[in-house]
Amino acid sequence: MDFARRDVLLGSAALLLAPGGTAGAASARPLGYAIVGLGGYGLGVIIPQFAHCTHSKLVAVVSGDRSKAERVAAEHGLGSGAIYSYADFDRIRDNPAIDIVYVCLPNAMHAEFTIRAARAGKHVLCEKPMAVSVAECEAMIAACRAADRKLMIGYRCHFEAYNLEAMRLARSGAAGKVRYVRSEHGFIQRDPAKWRLRRAMSGGGSLMDMGIYSLQAARYMTGEEPVAVTARESTDRSDPRFREVEDILDWTLEFPSGAIASCQSMYSANQNHVLLMGDRGRIELEPATRYDGNHMWVGADGRETAVTPPPGPRSTQFAGQLDHMSECAATGRQPIVSGEEGLRDMRIVAAIYRSAREGRTIRL
Ligand code: NAD
Repeated sequence: MDFARRDVLLGSAALLLAPGGTAGAASARPLGYAIVGLGGYGLGVIIPQFAHCTHSKLVAVVSGDRSKAERVAAEHGLGSGAIYSYADFDRIRDNPAIDIVYVCLPNAMHAEFTIRAARAGKHVLCEKPMAVSVAECEAMIAACRAADRKLMIGYRCHFEAYNLEAMRLARSGAAGKVRYVRSEHGFIQRDPAKWRLRRAMSGGGSLMDMGIYSLQAARYMTGEEPVAVTARESTDRSDPRFREVEDILDWTLEFPSGAIASCQSMYSANQNHVLLMGDRGRIELEPATRYDGNHMWVGADGRETAVTPPPGPRSTQFAGQLDHMSECAATGRQPIVSGEEGLRDMRIVAAIYRSAREGRTIRL
């Protein structure tokens, strides 16, 4: 993404998120969300966030577990008509209270439920990674375009105060001319039975799950699109967790300005870090992309100081993300992290895997 376009997007994010901004007036009522997948993220993280939203509310749940769905619906004052199974999901077309479907399912199910939602006439917010292949991403974009519905990817860091401030500082030249970015993201996978370690459900290992954060950071911190990637993998295939998917991926991105990004993802260590080095200093975040508790330092030559970003108009990144999607659905504006943004990442992800497999640099 070039600087000019990124600045326009950041500007529009600020506008949409500004308290009392124009977007708030676009929708007289909060838009209704159906959450698809009541797992760790959909149920544990996202549903409680509607309490912090201005333009968004929970109106339906979609689950394979009827009793869980009934419990969640009752807790949020929803009737039995607001509960759908995966099989009867398409009936959402007859429920005008549902404006937006939020897909919080395993990665390999993102494309199917995004396309079914669009065909049912609903806007879609889909979790990262967007899907498990470039072809699936293209099909999702095409389905939403054909239905004239918005498609947004759950890249919550674009609504997180530290990451927004880091982007702003990088663009303002706080570290000088960008020379390199480093980003590592991972966590220790302990349960070999988890879907994240099953290729058919996840589409891949640490790169698909956590490497997306490193890749995103490389792109939003430099404000550039990579032109080449060189990758290598390190996986102990005798470890029962890693029979089907990779553990460590290490890749280098080359950018048109001459900046490079050195990125890693892993499932055998806890890591969450973004560093931008310029010719006049550094911007460093650690942890960088957590749900909360992120930290940032800016400066040079051992005299870095901790920076606390100004509080945003929404109390959490999740509420910012949910309300941004509602505002885009209401106004017809393109989300700042659209399906096309997810597709860009998936093209690079495919090149990273290919580079590691073939042992050579891939031009993008
Ligand atoms: P999870 O395993 O906790 O939940 C997955 C849900 O999908 C469960 O309710 C499960 O019952 C349901 N499901 C339906 N069919 C399934 C099947 N065949 N196999 C396994 N589960 C099935 O996973 P999660 O952590 O909630 O992740 C869901 C999605 O959200 C993933 O795409 C993940 O990448 C994304 N996620 C994003 C963030 C973020 O910070 N943006 C954080 C966590 C997860």
